[in-house]
Amino acid sequence: MIKKRIIFVAALAVLCSAPANAQQSLKAGTDKIVQSESTGTWLDTPAPKGKKAKNVIVIIGDGMGTAQVYASVVAQKGASNFLRFPFSGFSRTYSNNKYTTDSGAGGTAIVTGCKTDNRHIGVLADNTPVQSILSKAKGWGLSTGFVVTSSVLDATPASTYAHVPDRKMYDSISLHMSQCGFDVMIGGGLSNFRPENRHDGLNPLDTLTKKGYEITYSIEEMKKAKSDRLVTFFCENYYGPVAPGRDPILAEGTKKALDILTKNPKGFVMMIEGSQIDWACHNNDAPYMEAELADFEKMLKIVLDFAEKDGNTLVVVTADHETGGLVLLSGNIEKGKNECKYITDGHSGVMVPVFAYGPGAETFSGIQNNIDLMPKMLKAMGRK
Ligand SMILES: [Zn+2]
Repeated sequence: MIKKRIIFVAALAVLCSAPANAQQSLKAGTDKIVQSESTGTWLDTPAPKGKKAKNVIVIIGDGMGTAQVYASVVAQKGASNFLRFPFSGFSRTYSNNKYTTDSGAGGTAIVTGCKTDNRHIGVLADNTPVQSILSKAKGWGLSTGFVVTSSVLDATPASTYAHVPDRKMYDSISLHMSQCGFDVMIGGGLSNFRPENRHDGLNPLDTLTKKGYEITYSIEEMKKAKSDRLVTFFCENYYGPVAPGRDPILAEGTKKALDILTKNPKGFVMMIEGSQIDWACHNNDAPYMEAELADFEKMLKIVLDFAEKDGNTLVVVTADHETGGLVLLSGNIEKGKNECKYITDGHSGVMVPVFAYGPGAETFSGIQNNIDLMPKMLKAMGRK
């Protein structure tokens, strides 16, 4: 019972409170582990009120509900990068036509600020196209990019650049990607770019080359790339799970993207997705989920260290939905162990966490709708 209460207090402190309140509630607690894992870990609020965000990094943990986040906090034995965020809240994830969203409607809501039907990408329910914050940023002359651990054509990345009524329309989505003009695009999904694998026989790889992109096919090639317009395909379709043996694509892709995007004096907008937290939870596979969360933590460290040093970058972390109905029945924080139980192999309709750091981060506290996130990012940038 005591252990349960400790976990509950820690989860509340992490997920619900602004720093001052959280400090008080933690001090009121009696558990040393909770104290030591949390005290002093919050990043300072760097932005004087009214300071505008030059850069925005929106990070989506696909399927990452509060239980997944807390599983990561425990798996990291309390040394979790989630605990560094000074502001946090919740996001309501329902789609235009379903209580429980998919990643198409969920991703579209986060990056465009519009609810749509499940399976839709970058369009309203009536198929009217809607612009993502990345597309808008490109129009303003900022740099743009994304890094994902799924295919570059999967629902979440596609929602940043494509406009199609169904997430499986890969031929169309790849054409939209080849035309979108983002500076950096990193993920899997090469096979859909090969003419022999397409219904239309077109060659979007050719389009990318003509548009001046350097196209690379491995982590080594990506690191060596010299161009400021980069596409990296790490594999034909989808990566395997992070453990064992997957290259550190999320962390290294994020580093490379930051190297390129930060060259623009006007700023940048970037989307990063930990895609396979969702897949692990669909499989009800806790070790796979924890490995993907550990991968996500490494990427978070890179982003937060960058944003802390930079001081002009808003970082927003959230999920499109929760997957698996994960319950943490018990565990051991000192040993980094969770006892996980899933109640579904699908998505659930619960609220998901939102974490924010940087100029405008305080506006992400409280319970918000997923379509509120993008307008708040724009407001933080002083734009509409
Ligand atoms: Zn899913």
